[in-house]
Amino acid sequence: MEKIKIGISSCLLGEKVRYDGGHKWDRYITDTLGQYFDWMPVCPEVEYGLPVPREAMHLVGDPEAPRLVTVRTGTDQTEGMLKWVEGRLKTLEQADLCGFIFKSRSPSSGIGGVTVYTPSGMPGRKGAGLFGGAFVRAFPLIPVIDDGRLHDPQLRENFIERVFAYQRWKEFLMHGATIKDLVTFHTEHKLLIFAHSPKHLSVLGRFVADAKKYTAVELLSLYITQFMDALRLLATAKKNTNVLLHIIGYFKKQLSADEKKELLDVLDTYHKGYVPLIVPVVLINHYVRKFDEPYLKKQHYLNPHPIELMLRNHV
Ligand code: SF4
Repeated sequence: MEKIKIGISSCLLGEKVRYDGGHKWDRYITDTLGQYFDWMPVCPEVEYGLPVPREAMHLVGDPEAPRLVTVRTGTDQTEGMLKWVEGRLKTLEQADLCGFIFKSRSPSSGIGGVTVYTPSGMPGRKGAGLFGGAFVRAFPLIPVIDDGRLHDPQLRENFIERVFAYQRWKEFLMHGATIKDLVTFHTEHKLLIFAHSPKHLSVLGRFVADAKKYTAVELLSLYITQFMDALRLLATAKKNTNVLLHIIGYFKKQLSADEKKELLDVLDTYHKGYVPLIVPVVLINHYVRKFDEPYLKKQHYLNPHPIELMLRNHV
């Protein structure tokens, strides 16, 4: 499998680019995710031209439009950094990224939760770093996360699921993106969307059914915006249980009374939080293979990302 291109704050890969000459190497990122992702490192502060080591910086002023200022001497780097950001975002348009992992709490790279100080030096409201915030505004479809949230099992699973889904969308675009292909894409993602948001599933279904009412550009733009919005909503145990019950409905007549009871018991233990999602999913995948159910076999919900990442072992 070709690796998926993901942007990343350089210091998370172990590059010594931080203000103090250090790094923030995250071994889960390099050793585990690195098996599937091809990194495109970005360090705004060094690429903009600041040295290593350098004076630490923080955000000051209006959280909606903060200034980037050095902590000790008060040097304002905002204008230069914003100019650099504008140019870098242009180059990233061509980078074919399917996700970005940002360093948390950085005044340059953070995507939220970065402390913005008041002019008198008191910690005020939270905001986004100059590059991180601009990236999210420029590429609203690209899945993003910071390294803090990446270590929350549910947010991590959600982010990686979105990365793989977005990559499938890009492949769909590369292969022509006809209405027929959109019907196939939508059909194969139905249960995945359902697990995040039944409401979005019906909206997306209407786009596909009414495809001829739109121009191709309109249709694809409407579809992918709603699709990525849906996947951003977390798939809770309640929503997953609903989807899994729906799946069982496809082969309940073929199951013996014992098999059915076992399956429903396993689902109940998942719903109550005693076992992770992977447990009912493995059992259901077994029956999908055994009964060779064509619709279910193609559902990305049952295999949204490589099992080796063990993401559903912790949610
Ligand atoms: S947080 Fe961002 S700006 Fe700071 S060292 Fe890491 S990549 Fe560079």
